[in-house]
Amino acid sequence: MAIPAMRATGVSPVTSPCFDPNRTDLAVGDITAIAKKGWECMWVRYAEAVIKTSWRCIMNEREILARTREMIAEHASGDPDRWWYANRFVFARLMLDERKTKTNVKQKLLDANMLCPGCGKRFETRRDIHLHRLDGDKAYSQANCVLMHPDCHRAAHAAHPEAVEVATGREPTLTKWSKRYDDMPFVYWWDIAPGLAEQLNDLEPAEFAKKDTKDRCVVPVEMLRTFLTPERQTTRGQGNWGVKVLKDRPDELAFEPGTGSREWRFLPVVWLEEAED
Ligand SMILES: [Zn+2]
Ligand SMILES: [Zn+2]
Repeated sequence: MAIPAMRATGVSPVTSPCFDPNRTDLAVGDITAIAKKGWECMWVRYAEAVIKTSWRCIMNEREILARTREMIAEHASGDPDRWWYANRFVFARLMLDERKTKTNVKQKLLDANMLCPGCGKRFETRRDIHLHRLDGDKAYSQANCVLMHPDCHRAAHAAHPEAVEVATGREPTLTKWSKRYDDMPFVYWWDIAPGLAEQLNDLEPAEFAKKDTKDRCVVPVEMLRTFLTPERQTTRGQGNWGVKVLKDRPDELAFEPGTGSREWRFLPVVWLEEAED
């Protein structure tokens, strides 16, 4: 009988009416040299074996994602608020991990006074400097990265578009751009038309991007959908949804109340610099 996740941990002889020869050489799993008299039968105790090691090795990235989704769903057990919070918690922290790595690498390269390999010039400010990976299959590290001016970086990629494809392997992302608004209660504003919302599928994260700084935040489509409800549709266009960044809440996407609601809803986001591959 196969008990795949179990491991024998001990045996104890028990008196039995059936007779066999006495034995001293029995083995159950890792337990060897078990002695048993002919009239005894044997009980084997089992405990859960550690199978985590192999489980970790065989999962690929998609399976890790699927498992994470499953765990979040289990944790939420049908409560949309709990689901949203857990999903946001995990998502935002993974994004921050990546950003921390990039910030460290950038800092080290800046401290080493690296010049831009695109134009050979120095960096005048510490803002708006891109990290470019030399080998797109390798991670962000001091050895694998150079600093570039944004324009030099874009030019480098435009000259080798095929390299970007291979290097980044990015999934298609729906990107919405907003200019900066200076004399409004909001600073950025994206409209989502119903037609566009229909195009969203689970494989495509939506990205909200700022034209002036090129900063962007990624919102999983499942999460975005929870905000795109009929009562939040406005009277603009075919019933567009309004997504904004309000002046006093820079790190949140603000969803307009629409015609059937009075409350704004807010989604905390992490603004990242332009994809820096
Ligand atoms: Zn340059
Ligand atoms: Zn690059």
